[in-house]
Amino acid sequence: MPAGDSFFIATPIFYVNDVPHIGHAYTEVAADVLARWHRQRGDDAWLLTGTDEHGQKILRTATSNGVTPQEWADKLVTESWKPLLQTVDIRNDDFIRTTDARHEKGVQTFLQKLYDDGFIYQGEFEGFYCVGCEEYKQPGDLVDGTGPFEGQQVCAIHSKPVELLQESNYFFRMSDFEQRLLDLYEQQPDFVQPDTVRNEIVQFVKQGLRDLSISRQSFDWGVKVPWDEKHVVYVWFDALLNYITAIGYGVDDDEFDRRWPAVQLVGKDIARFHAVIWPAMLMAAGLPVPKNVFGHGWLLVGGEKMSKSKLTGIAPQQITDVFGSDAFRYYFMRAITFGQDGNFSWEDISARYQAELANGFGNLASRVVAMITRYFDGTVPVAGELTDADLAVRETEVRVTAAADAAIDRFAINEALSSIWELVDTLNGYITEQEPWALAKDESKRERLATVLATSLRGLGTLTVLLSPFIPTATTTLWQSIGQGELTSQPVDRAPEWSSAPEVQPLAAGLFPRIEQPEPAK
Ligand SMILES: [Zn+2]
Repeated sequence: MPAGDSFFIATPIFYVNDVPHIGHAYTEVAADVLARWHRQRGDDAWLLTGTDEHGQKILRTATSNGVTPQEWADKLVTESWKPLLQTVDIRNDDFIRTTDARHEKGVQTFLQKLYDDGFIYQGEFEGFYCVGCEEYKQPGDLVDGTGPFEGQQVCAIHSKPVELLQESNYFFRMSDFEQRLLDLYEQQPDFVQPDTVRNEIVQFVKQGLRDLSISRQSFDWGVKVPWDEKHVVYVWFDALLNYITAIGYGVDDDEFDRRWPAVQLVGKDIARFHAVIWPAMLMAAGLPVPKNVFGHGWLLVGGEKMSKSKLTGIAPQQITDVFGSDAFRYYFMRAITFGQDGNFSWEDISARYQAELANGFGNLASRVVAMITRYFDGTVPVAGELTDADLAVRETEVRVTAAADAAIDRFAINEALSSIWELVDTLNGYITEQEPWALAKDESKRERLATVLATSLRGLGTLTVLLSPFIPTATTTLWQSIGQGELTSQPVDRAPEWSSAPEVQPLAAGLFPRIEQPEPAK
């Protein structure tokens, strides 16, 4: 991808009523790593996130808490959702709320266009509605209830009874787009990723699409249907539009054309909304579909799914309080194959923190900086003649940079980190083998010592650039000790070309301090 290309990446917007758990933070970190990487290789990157604030469930909770739904949403955005981004160090470019005037206006513009163009009609609808999902359920989506709900049909996700609703609603002619969607999946095989999610989506659409009920009359917490204000827009139809209302749909064509289409990261449980309904809506409006919809896996804790609808989650801060935000980001990007389910455990994060971050990377950084400080008074040594061992380090830098860059283009975030870690291991092995501390004892080996430390520092700087999208805090600290200019302006796809400062500054402390108690007290 040539420099300056648009890279617009969006996370799903958070449903404000949920409690932030590590699953939400996981999506955010993945999107942030991809955005930082692209930004740092010179692409026109833009990271969008935000909150989903309409719908019956919010209205009900707000009412039961004695406040207006807007007050309830404001409170949750301020107290829960924006702080989550701080906790895991997300550098988003925008934060959209579905209660923003810019969003509500954009939804109405979009809806009016579809209505004028004949894609929306009025009809009667009866169906089983799950308030938890904010979705009408097909009979196949229901299961037999247990415990207090025995004898009833319940939502398979929420295990709670559904409501039989009958309404006169507006419908979107989604069935018109069945063939066009199948053509899209066929002609653009990477539109939905990974393959497991793609196959499920194709099977779902092949079973036939029904028109979608897109308005409600039974409550009023939502965007009003512009030609019939007794109706509010169905919350999913409203929420999906955030991806275009945030970038100026209908009001700023230049900005819209600059950004759209987006790369969209979603949990696989909401892939259907993003890979079926959303592209159909865009097709109806004559707009391009997203570049990719990537459905990542679930985080399991003790083998159990962490879902956005169940309150079994671990708060991200429980982890960052112990290990810090860098370790949170590193762990989830490294330990879990992006696109598959992955298991979280305190033992695993603790082991990786110690072995990979503290002993692997952190210790390497401390040793190289300390030896240059000790043997050369901090002045960066100049390499003499290079041996095969030195050249092998340089070759590894170039190779892993290309491999990581290619992996990022495939959304293989964990593979990018594995490639980068080859350089950590190579450098640690190189130093062990070259024994600079032994060379330092022999004045006649002075030039060889300079070459070994210069080569080690080169590699360390390349690592710092490559790791900056993943662990921005530690790499910024290290960069202040060895680098020149802003770390985030170093082209990540040409990481080995970085320039060192003439002198290294001693590191005040280890980049990854010892953790006294790897698991919070229960
Ligand atoms: Zn449900």
